[in-house]
Amino acid sequence: MNGLYYDVIVIGGGPAGMAAALSAREQGAPKVLLIERDCELGGILNQCIHNGFGLHYFKQELTGPEYAGRFIRRLDGAGIEVWLDTMVLELDGLCLHTVSAAGGYRVVRAGSVVLAMGCRERTRGAIGIPGSRPAGIFTAGAAQRYVNIEGYLVGRRVLILGSGDIGLIMARRMTLEGASVLACVEVMPYSGGLARNIVQCLHDYDIPLLLSHTIVEIRGKNRVEQAVVAAVDGDRRPIPGTEQVFDCDTILLSVGLIPENELSRAAGIAIDPHTKGAVVYENMQTSLPGVFACGNVLHVHDLVDYVTAESQRAGRAAADYAAGQRREGAELELCAGDGVGYTVPQRLHLAHLDKTVPMFFRPRRVYGTCAVVARQNGRQVGRFRRERMAPGEMEQVALPALLLQDDGPVTLCVEEDA
Ligand SMILES: Cc1cc2nc3c(=O)[nH]c(=O)nc-3n(C[C@H](O)[C@H](O)[C@H](O)COP(=O)(O)OP(=O)(O)OC[C@H]3O[C@@H](n4cnc5c(N)ncnc54)[C@H](O)[C@@H]3O)c2cc1C
Repeated sequence: MNGLYYDVIVIGGGPAGMAAALSAREQGAPKVLLIERDCELGGILNQCIHNGFGLHYFKQELTGPEYAGRFIRRLDGAGIEVWLDTMVLELDGLCLHTVSAAGGYRVVRAGSVVLAMGCRERTRGAIGIPGSRPAGIFTAGAAQRYVNIEGYLVGRRVLILGSGDIGLIMARRMTLEGASVLACVEVMPYSGGLARNIVQCLHDYDIPLLLSHTIVEIRGKNRVEQAVVAAVDGDRRPIPGTEQVFDCDTILLSVGLIPENELSRAAGIAIDPHTKGAVVYENMQTSLPGVFACGNVLHVHDLVDYVTAESQRAGRAAADYAAGQRREGAELELCAGDGVGYTVPQRLHLAHLDKTVPMFFRPRRVYGTCAVVARQNGRQVGRFRRERMAPGEMEQVALPALLLQDDGPVTLCVEEDA
Protein backbone atom coordinates (compact mmCIF):
# COMPACT_ATOMS: atom_id res chain seq x y z
CA MET A 1 0.00 0.00 0.00
CA ASN A 2 1.29 3.50 -0.85
CA GLY A 3 2.07 6.08 1.86
CA LEU A 4 1.92 5.66 5.62
CA TYR A 5 -0.15 2.69 6.75
CA TYR A 6 -0.87 1.29 10.23
CA ASP A 7 -3.12 -1.62 11.12
CA VAL A 8 -4.71 0.29 13.99
CA ILE A 9 -4.60 4.04 14.57
CA VAL A 10 -5.85 5.43 17.88
CA ILE A 11 -6.81 9.12 18.11
CA GLY A 12 -6.24 10.57 21.59
CA GLY A 13 -3.58 9.62 24.16
CA GLY A 14 -5.66 9.78 27.36
CA PRO A 15 -6.44 6.66 29.41
CA ALA A 16 -8.90 5.48 26.74
CA GLY A 17 -6.45 5.80 23.85
CA MET A 18 -3.55 4.25 25.75
CA ALA A 19 -5.60 1.22 26.84
CA ALA A 20 -7.03 0.76 23.32
CA ALA A 21 -3.57 0.96 21.69
CA LEU A 22 -2.07 -1.55 24.15
CA SER A 23 -4.95 -3.99 23.69
CA ALA A 24 -4.81 -3.71 19.90
CA ARG A 25 -1.13 -4.59 20.03
CA GLU A 26 -1.69 -7.46 22.49
CA GLN A 27 -4.41 -8.78 20.18
CA GLY A 28 -1.78 -9.07 17.46
CA ALA A 29 -2.03 -5.88 15.40
CA PRO A 30 1.47 -5.60 13.87
CA LYS A 31 1.58 -1.80 13.47
CA VAL A 32 -0.25 0.42 15.96
CA LEU A 33 -0.07 4.23 15.99
CA LEU A 34 -1.25 6.42 18.88
CA ILE A 35 -1.78 10.11 18.03
CA GLU A 36 -2.05 12.81 20.72
CA ARG A 37 -2.38 16.55 20.10
CA ASP A 38 -0.82 17.47 23.46
CA CYS A 39 2.91 17.30 24.15
CA GLU A 40 2.46 14.38 26.55
CA LEU A 41 0.26 11.35 27.06
CA GLY A 42 -2.26 11.05 29.90
CA GLY A 43 -5.14 13.30 28.82
CA ILE A 44 -7.25 14.87 31.55
CA LEU A 45 -5.64 12.62 34.19
CA ASN A 46 -2.51 14.78 34.18
CA GLN A 47 -4.33 17.61 35.95
CA CYS A 48 -6.32 15.39 38.36
CA ILE A 49 -3.84 15.25 41.23
CA HIS A 50 -6.44 14.03 43.73
CA ASN A 51 -6.70 10.33 44.55
CA GLY A 52 -9.61 8.03 43.67
CA PHE A 53 -8.37 6.52 40.41
CA GLY A 54 -7.83 2.81 39.87
CA LEU A 55 -9.83 1.35 42.76
CA HIS A 56 -11.40 -1.28 40.49
CA TYR A 57 -8.65 -1.82 37.92
CA PHE A 58 -5.50 -1.72 40.09
CA LYS A 59 -7.30 -2.33 43.45
CA GLN A 60 -5.38 0.70 44.66
CA GLU A 61 -6.23 4.32 45.18
CA LEU A 62 -4.03 6.29 42.78
CA THR A 63 -3.86 9.91 41.67
CA GLY A 64 -4.65 10.71 38.03
CA PRO A 65 -0.98 11.13 37.00
CA GLU A 66 -0.09 7.86 38.78
CA TYR A 67 -2.85 6.02 36.90
CA ALA A 68 -1.73 7.53 33.59
CA GLY A 69 1.93 6.82 34.45
CA ARG A 70 1.27 3.10 34.74
CA PHE A 71 -0.09 3.01 31.18
CA ILE A 72 2.64 5.28 29.82
CA ARG A 73 5.23 2.84 31.23
CA ARG A 74 3.38 -0.11 29.65
CA LEU A 75 3.60 1.66 26.29
CA ASP A 76 7.38 1.74 26.60
CA GLY A 77 8.70 -1.20 24.63
CA ALA A 78 5.21 -2.35 23.59
CA GLY A 79 6.05 -1.74 19.94
CA ILE A 80 3.51 1.05 19.55
CA GLU A 81 4.41 4.21 17.64
CA VAL A 82 3.36 7.42 19.40
CA TRP A 83 3.02 10.79 17.69
CA LEU A 84 2.77 13.63 20.20
CA ASP A 85 1.97 17.28 19.39
CA THR A 86 -0.03 15.97 16.46
CA MET A 87 -3.61 16.95 15.76
CA VAL A 88 -5.96 14.79 13.72
CA LEU A 89 -7.81 17.29 11.53
CA GLU A 90 -10.06 15.00 9.58
CA LEU A 91 -11.19 11.42 9.37
CA ASP A 92 -12.11 10.35 5.87
CA GLY A 93 -13.17 6.72 6.07
CA LEU A 94 -10.04 4.94 7.32
CA CYS A 95 -7.77 7.75 6.20
CA LEU A 96 -6.56 10.39 8.69
CA HIS A 97 -5.35 13.90 7.92
CA THR A 98 -2.92 15.06 10.60
CA VAL A 99 -0.75 18.08 11.29
CA SER A 100 2.18 18.70 13.64
CA ALA A 101 5.00 21.20 13.98
CA ALA A 102 7.63 18.49 13.52
CA GLY A 103 6.01 16.40 10.79
CA GLY A 104 3.90 18.99 8.97
CA TYR A 105 0.77 17.79 7.19
CA ARG A 106 0.58 14.03 6.88
CA VAL A 107 -2.04 11.65 5.57
CA VAL A 108 -2.09 8.22 7.24
CA ARG A 109 -4.16 5.18 6.31
CA ALA A 110 -5.39 2.57 8.74
CA GLY A 111 -6.84 -0.92 8.78
CA SER A 112 -9.06 0.35 11.60
CA VAL A 113 -9.36 3.49 13.75
CA VAL A 114 -10.19 3.98 17.43
CA LEU A 115 -11.73 7.31 18.45
CA ALA A 116 -10.57 8.27 21.98
CA MET A 117 -10.69 12.08 21.89
CA GLY A 118 -12.28 12.59 25.33
CA CYS A 119 -14.64 15.49 26.04
CA ARG A 120 -14.62 19.21 26.79
CA GLU A 121 -16.49 21.35 29.31
CA ARG A 122 -19.64 23.35 28.71
CA THR A 123 -18.97 27.05 29.15
CA ARG A 124 -20.98 30.06 30.29
CA GLY A 125 -22.05 30.67 26.69
CA ALA A 126 -23.64 27.24 26.57
CA ILE A 127 -25.88 27.90 29.58
CA GLY A 128 -26.55 31.63 29.10
CA ILE A 129 -26.26 33.18 32.59
CA PRO A 130 -27.46 36.80 32.47
CA GLY A 131 -25.41 39.70 33.81
CA SER A 132 -22.17 41.49 32.96
CA ARG A 133 -19.07 39.87 31.46
CA PRO A 134 -16.30 40.42 34.02
CA ALA A 135 -13.11 38.37 34.48
CA GLY A 136 -13.14 35.66 37.11
CA ILE A 137 -15.45 33.11 35.49
CA PHE A 138 -13.75 29.80 34.70
CA THR A 139 -14.83 26.33 33.86
CA ALA A 140 -13.88 24.08 36.77
CA GLY A 141 -11.48 22.08 34.59
CA ALA A 142 -9.69 25.23 33.37
CA ALA A 143 -9.31 26.35 37.00
CA GLN A 144 -8.03 22.89 37.87
CA ARG A 145 -5.37 23.19 35.19
CA TYR A 146 -4.35 26.68 36.39
CA VAL A 147 -4.05 25.54 40.00
CA ASN A 148 -2.55 22.08 39.56
CA ILE A 149 -0.33 22.52 36.50
CA GLU A 150 0.35 26.24 35.97
CA GLY A 151 0.52 27.12 39.68
CA TYR A 152 -2.00 30.01 39.70
CA LEU A 153 -4.74 30.38 42.29
CA VAL A 154 -7.64 31.70 40.21
CA GLY A 155 -9.53 33.45 43.05
CA ARG A 156 -10.11 33.96 46.78
CA ARG A 157 -13.88 33.95 47.26
CA VAL A 158 -15.37 31.30 45.08
CA LEU A 159 -18.88 30.24 44.13
CA ILE A 160 -19.33 27.03 42.20
CA LEU A 161 -22.19 26.52 39.74
CA GLY A 162 -23.01 22.89 39.07
CA SER A 163 -22.24 19.90 41.24
CA GLY A 164 -20.59 17.62 38.68
CA ASP A 165 -17.46 15.82 39.87
CA ILE A 166 -15.05 18.46 38.58
CA GLY A 167 -16.91 21.20 40.50
CA LEU A 168 -16.93 19.13 43.69
CA ILE A 169 -13.24 18.27 43.38
CA MET A 170 -12.40 21.94 42.76
CA ALA A 171 -14.42 23.02 45.82
CA ARG A 172 -12.04 20.96 47.94
CA ARG A 173 -8.96 21.94 45.96
CA MET A 174 -9.62 25.68 46.23
CA THR A 175 -10.28 25.31 49.97
CA LEU A 176 -7.00 23.43 50.46
CA GLU A 177 -5.21 26.23 48.57
CA GLY A 178 -6.59 28.83 51.01
CA ALA A 179 -9.58 30.18 49.08
CA SER A 180 -13.03 30.48 50.62
CA VAL A 181 -15.63 28.40 48.79
CA LEU A 182 -18.98 29.99 49.63
CA ALA A 183 -21.34 27.38 48.15
CA CYS A 184 -21.92 24.91 45.40
CA VAL A 185 -25.12 25.81 43.54
CA GLU A 186 -27.02 23.09 41.65
CA VAL A 187 -30.13 23.68 39.53
CA MET A 188 -31.30 20.07 39.80
CA PRO A 189 -32.81 18.64 43.00
CA TYR A 190 -29.87 16.21 43.19
CA SER A 191 -26.11 16.45 42.68
CA GLY A 192 -24.58 15.52 39.32
CA GLY A 193 -21.49 14.06 41.02
CA LEU A 194 -20.47 10.85 42.77
CA ALA A 195 -21.80 10.41 46.33
CA ARG A 196 -18.23 9.93 47.60
CA ASN A 197 -17.21 13.32 46.14
CA ILE A 198 -20.14 15.10 47.83
CA VAL A 199 -19.01 13.72 51.18
CA GLN A 200 -15.26 14.10 50.71
CA CYS A 201 -15.26 17.47 48.91
CA LEU A 202 -18.25 19.37 50.35
CA HIS A 203 -19.41 17.85 53.65
CA ASP A 204 -15.88 17.38 55.00
CA TYR A 205 -15.18 21.10 54.44
CA ASP A 206 -18.61 22.45 55.49
CA ILE A 207 -19.29 23.81 52.01
CA PRO A 208 -23.05 24.21 51.50
CA LEU A 209 -24.71 22.45 48.56
CA LEU A 210 -27.70 24.49 47.39
CA LEU A 211 -29.88 22.07 45.42
CA SER A 212 -32.67 23.45 43.15
CA HIS A 213 -30.85 26.81 42.99
CA THR A 214 -29.12 28.68 40.21
CA ILE A 215 -27.17 31.87 39.52
CA VAL A 216 -29.56 34.44 38.07
CA GLU A 217 -27.14 37.36 37.76
CA ILE A 218 -23.41 37.98 37.74
CA ARG A 219 -22.31 41.48 38.83
CA GLY A 220 -18.95 43.21 38.41
CA LYS A 221 -17.19 45.46 35.93
CA ASN A 222 -13.62 44.26 35.48
CA ARG A 223 -13.73 41.32 37.88
CA VAL A 224 -16.67 39.37 39.33
CA GLU A 225 -17.92 41.15 42.48
CA GLN A 226 -21.21 39.47 43.25
CA ALA A 227 -23.43 36.61 42.14
CA VAL A 228 -27.17 36.53 42.73
CA VAL A 229 -28.50 33.04 43.47
CA ALA A 230 -32.19 32.08 43.51
CA ALA A 231 -34.20 28.93 44.19
CA VAL A 232 -35.88 27.33 41.15
CA ASP A 233 -39.22 25.60 40.74
CA GLY A 234 -39.86 22.14 39.28
CA ASP A 235 -39.42 23.55 35.76
CA ARG A 236 -36.07 25.08 36.75
CA ARG A 237 -37.49 28.62 36.64
CA PRO A 238 -36.12 31.05 39.28
CA ILE A 239 -38.63 31.79 42.08
CA PRO A 240 -38.92 35.57 42.63
CA GLY A 241 -38.21 36.67 46.20
CA THR A 242 -35.74 33.84 46.93
CA GLU A 243 -32.64 35.74 45.73
CA GLN A 244 -29.51 35.82 47.90
CA VAL A 245 -26.36 37.76 47.05
CA PHE A 246 -22.88 36.25 47.38
CA ASP A 247 -19.84 38.55 47.48
CA CYS A 248 -17.36 36.60 45.42
CA ASP A 249 -14.48 37.26 43.01
CA THR A 250 -14.65 33.95 41.15
CA ILE A 251 -17.28 31.66 39.69
CA LEU A 252 -16.38 28.13 38.64
CA LEU A 253 -18.70 26.37 36.20
CA SER A 254 -19.18 22.62 36.42
CA VAL A 255 -22.17 22.37 34.15
CA GLY A 256 -21.52 19.35 32.00
CA LEU A 257 -19.13 17.78 29.53
CA ILE A 258 -19.48 17.45 25.78
CA PRO A 259 -17.82 14.54 23.96
CA GLU A 260 -15.37 15.86 21.30
CA ASN A 261 -17.10 14.45 18.24
CA GLU A 262 -16.40 17.06 15.57
CA LEU A 263 -14.20 14.56 13.69
CA SER A 264 -16.78 11.80 14.06
CA ARG A 265 -19.68 13.96 12.87
CA ALA A 266 -17.75 15.21 9.87
CA ALA A 267 -16.90 11.59 9.02
CA GLY A 268 -20.63 10.79 8.90
CA ILE A 269 -20.67 8.60 12.02
CA ALA A 270 -24.14 8.26 13.61
CA ILE A 271 -24.29 10.17 16.92
CA ASP A 272 -26.65 9.32 19.79
CA PRO A 273 -28.52 12.53 20.73
CA HIS A 274 -28.52 11.51 24.42
CA THR A 275 -24.84 10.58 24.92
CA LYS A 276 -23.59 13.01 22.24
CA GLY A 277 -21.20 10.17 21.40
CA ALA A 278 -21.21 7.62 18.57
CA VAL A 279 -23.82 4.91 18.37
CA VAL A 280 -21.85 1.69 18.96
CA TYR A 281 -22.18 -2.08 18.80
CA GLU A 282 -21.13 -4.50 21.57
CA ASN A 283 -17.53 -4.40 20.28
CA MET A 284 -17.53 -0.55 20.31
CA GLN A 285 -17.70 -0.33 16.51
CA THR A 286 -19.47 2.79 15.29
CA SER A 287 -21.81 3.04 12.30
CA LEU A 288 -18.71 3.51 10.11
CA PRO A 289 -17.20 0.04 9.57
CA GLY A 290 -13.66 -0.18 10.96
CA VAL A 291 -14.06 2.85 13.23
CA PHE A 292 -14.43 2.18 16.97
CA ALA A 293 -15.02 4.57 19.90
CA CYS A 294 -14.32 4.43 23.63
CA GLY A 295 -13.88 6.57 26.74
CA ASN A 296 -15.34 10.02 27.24
CA VAL A 297 -15.71 10.66 23.51
CA LEU A 298 -18.32 7.88 23.55
CA HIS A 299 -20.17 8.76 26.77
CA VAL A 300 -19.09 10.71 29.83
CA HIS A 301 -17.64 8.35 32.45
CA ASP A 302 -17.18 9.10 36.13
CA LEU A 303 -14.60 6.37 36.77
CA VAL A 304 -11.48 5.89 34.70
CA ASP A 305 -11.46 2.16 35.50
CA TYR A 306 -14.54 1.69 33.31
CA VAL A 307 -12.90 3.80 30.60
CA THR A 308 -9.98 1.36 30.62
CA ALA A 309 -12.16 -1.78 30.39
CA GLU A 310 -14.27 -0.32 27.58
CA SER A 311 -11.20 0.85 25.66
CA GLN A 312 -9.55 -2.55 25.92
CA ARG A 313 -12.63 -4.01 24.22
CA ALA A 314 -12.40 -1.35 21.50
CA GLY A 315 -8.67 -1.98 20.97
CA ARG A 316 -9.10 -5.75 20.64
CA ALA A 317 -12.02 -5.35 18.23
CA ALA A 318 -10.07 -2.82 16.14
CA ALA A 319 -7.17 -5.30 15.84
CA ASP A 320 -9.60 -8.08 14.82
CA TYR A 321 -11.16 -5.81 12.19
CA ALA A 322 -7.75 -4.86 10.78
CA ALA A 323 -6.95 -8.58 10.56
CA GLY A 324 -10.04 -9.13 8.42
CA GLN A 325 -12.57 -10.34 11.01
CA ARG A 326 -16.06 -8.92 10.47
CA ARG A 327 -19.16 -9.02 12.66
CA GLU A 328 -22.21 -9.53 10.48
CA GLY A 329 -25.70 -11.02 10.59
CA ALA A 330 -28.82 -10.19 12.61
CA GLU A 331 -28.70 -7.01 14.68
CA LEU A 332 -30.61 -5.97 17.79
CA GLU A 333 -31.31 -2.47 18.97
CA LEU A 334 -30.97 -1.58 22.67
CA CYS A 335 -33.29 1.25 23.76
CA ALA A 336 -33.63 3.44 26.82
CA GLY A 337 -37.12 3.03 28.31
CA ASP A 338 -38.80 4.66 31.34
CA GLY A 339 -36.31 6.10 33.80
CA VAL A 340 -33.23 5.35 31.67
CA GLY A 341 -31.35 8.26 30.05
CA TYR A 342 -29.33 6.25 27.53
CA THR A 343 -27.68 2.89 26.93
CA VAL A 344 -24.22 2.01 25.62
CA PRO A 345 -23.95 -0.02 23.44
CA GLN A 346 -27.02 0.85 21.41
CA ARG A 347 -26.78 -2.09 18.98
CA LEU A 348 -25.75 -5.76 19.14
CA HIS A 349 -24.59 -8.32 16.59
CA LEU A 350 -26.62 -11.31 17.73
CA ALA A 351 -24.21 -13.92 16.38
CA HIS A 352 -21.14 -12.45 18.06
CA LEU A 353 -22.09 -12.05 21.72
CA ASP A 354 -20.14 -13.31 24.73
CA LYS A 355 -22.09 -15.12 27.47
CA THR A 356 -23.18 -11.81 28.94
CA VAL A 357 -23.51 -8.40 27.30
CA PRO A 358 -22.34 -5.49 29.46
CA MET A 359 -24.72 -2.58 29.15
CA PHE A 360 -24.01 0.86 30.59
CA PHE A 361 -26.67 3.44 31.36
CA ARG A 362 -27.57 6.39 33.53
CA PRO A 363 -30.90 6.71 35.35
CA ARG A 364 -32.90 9.85 34.61
CA ARG A 365 -33.33 10.77 38.28
CA VAL A 366 -32.55 9.55 41.79
CA TYR A 367 -34.17 6.20 42.64
CA GLY A 368 -34.42 4.32 45.96
CA THR A 369 -34.90 0.55 45.97
CA CYS A 370 -35.86 -0.40 42.42
CA ALA A 371 -35.32 -2.90 39.64
CA VAL A 372 -33.68 -2.36 36.27
CA VAL A 373 -35.61 -4.51 33.81
CA ALA A 374 -34.72 -5.49 30.24
CA ARG A 375 -37.54 -6.66 27.96
CA GLN A 376 -37.69 -7.87 24.39
CA ASN A 377 -41.09 -8.00 22.72
CA GLY A 378 -42.78 -8.11 26.16
CA ARG A 379 -40.49 -10.92 27.40
CA GLN A 380 -38.28 -10.20 30.42
CA VAL A 381 -34.64 -10.92 29.51
CA GLY A 382 -33.01 -9.44 32.61
CA ARG A 383 -33.92 -8.03 36.03
CA PHE A 384 -31.40 -6.38 38.34
CA ARG A 385 -32.08 -5.04 41.86
CA ARG A 386 -30.67 -1.69 42.94
CA GLU A 387 -30.75 -0.08 46.40
CA ARG A 388 -30.13 3.39 45.03
CA MET A 389 -29.34 4.98 41.67
CA ALA A 390 -28.52 8.58 40.74
CA PRO A 391 -27.80 10.25 37.37
CA GLY A 392 -24.32 11.22 38.61
CA GLU A 393 -23.28 7.56 38.83
CA MET A 394 -23.03 5.41 35.72
CA GLU A 395 -24.70 2.00 36.11
CA GLN A 396 -23.87 -1.32 34.50
CA VAL A 397 -25.90 -4.51 33.99
CA ALA A 398 -24.93 -7.73 32.22
CA LEU A 399 -27.61 -9.16 29.91
CA PRO A 400 -27.54 -12.95 29.43
CA ALA A 401 -26.90 -13.41 25.69
CA LEU A 402 -28.76 -16.76 25.63
CA LEU A 403 -32.07 -15.01 26.26
CA LEU A 404 -31.69 -12.52 23.39
CA GLN A 405 -33.36 -13.42 20.10
CA ASP A 406 -33.85 -11.90 16.68
CA ASP A 407 -37.15 -10.52 17.94
CA GLY A 408 -37.07 -6.72 17.90
CA PRO A 409 -35.45 -4.14 20.19
CA VAL A 410 -34.47 -4.75 23.81
CA THR A 411 -35.70 -1.98 26.12
CA LEU A 412 -34.16 -1.17 29.49
CA CYS A 413 -36.33 0.58 32.08
CA VAL A 414 -36.46 1.29 35.81
CA GLU A 415 -39.33 -0.09 37.89
CA GLU A 416 -39.89 1.27 41.38
CA ASP A 417 -41.08 -0.97 44.20
CA ALA A 418 -44.78 -0.58 44.80
C1 LIG B 1 -11.84 16.82 37.05
C2 LIG B 1 -12.03 15.37 36.86
C3 LIG B 1 -11.97 14.55 37.96
C4 LIG B 1 -12.08 13.17 37.81
N1 LIG B 1 -11.96 12.37 38.90
C5 LIG B 1 -11.97 11.02 38.75
C6 LIG B 1 -11.71 10.16 39.88
O1 LIG B 1 -11.52 10.61 41.02
N2 LIG B 1 -11.67 8.83 39.65
C7 LIG B 1 -11.89 8.32 38.41
O2 LIG B 1 -11.82 7.09 38.25
N3 LIG B 1 -12.14 9.12 37.33
C8 LIG B 1 -12.18 10.45 37.48
N4 LIG B 1 -12.41 11.27 36.39
C9 LIG B 1 -12.81 10.65 35.10
C10 LIG B 1 -11.65 10.21 34.21
O3 LIG B 1 -10.54 11.00 34.45
C11 LIG B 1 -12.07 10.31 32.78
O4 LIG B 1 -13.22 9.53 32.62
C12 LIG B 1 -10.98 9.79 31.82
O5 LIG B 1 -9.80 10.51 32.03
C13 LIG B 1 -11.42 9.92 30.37
O6 LIG B 1 -10.40 9.42 29.53
P1 LIG B 1 -10.37 9.65 27.96
O7 LIG B 1 -9.09 9.05 27.49
O8 LIG B 1 -11.64 9.21 27.39
O9 LIG B 1 -10.33 11.23 27.77
P2 LIG B 1 -9.16 12.29 28.02
O10 LIG B 1 -8.41 11.99 29.26
O11 LIG B 1 -9.83 13.62 27.92
O12 LIG B 1 -8.17 12.09 26.77
C14 LIG B 1 -8.51 12.46 25.45
C15 LIG B 1 -7.24 12.82 24.72
O13 LIG B 1 -7.50 12.98 23.33
C16 LIG B 1 -6.71 14.03 22.82
N5 LIG B 1 -7.35 14.52 21.58
C17 LIG B 1 -8.60 15.02 21.41
N6 LIG B 1 -8.84 15.34 20.13
C18 LIG B 1 -7.70 15.04 19.44
C19 LIG B 1 -7.35 15.15 18.07
N7 LIG B 1 -8.20 15.61 17.14
N8 LIG B 1 -6.11 14.76 17.69
C20 LIG B 1 -5.23 14.25 18.61
N9 LIG B 1 -5.54 14.13 19.94
C21 LIG B 1 -6.75 14.51 20.34
C22 LIG B 1 -6.75 15.05 23.97
O14 LIG B 1 -5.69 15.96 23.87
C23 LIG B 1 -6.65 14.14 25.19
O15 LIG B 1 -5.32 13.93 25.61
C24 LIG B 1 -12.30 12.64 36.51
C25 LIG B 1 -12.39 13.47 35.40
C26 LIG B 1 -12.26 14.83 35.56
C27 LIG B 1 -12.33 15.72 34.32
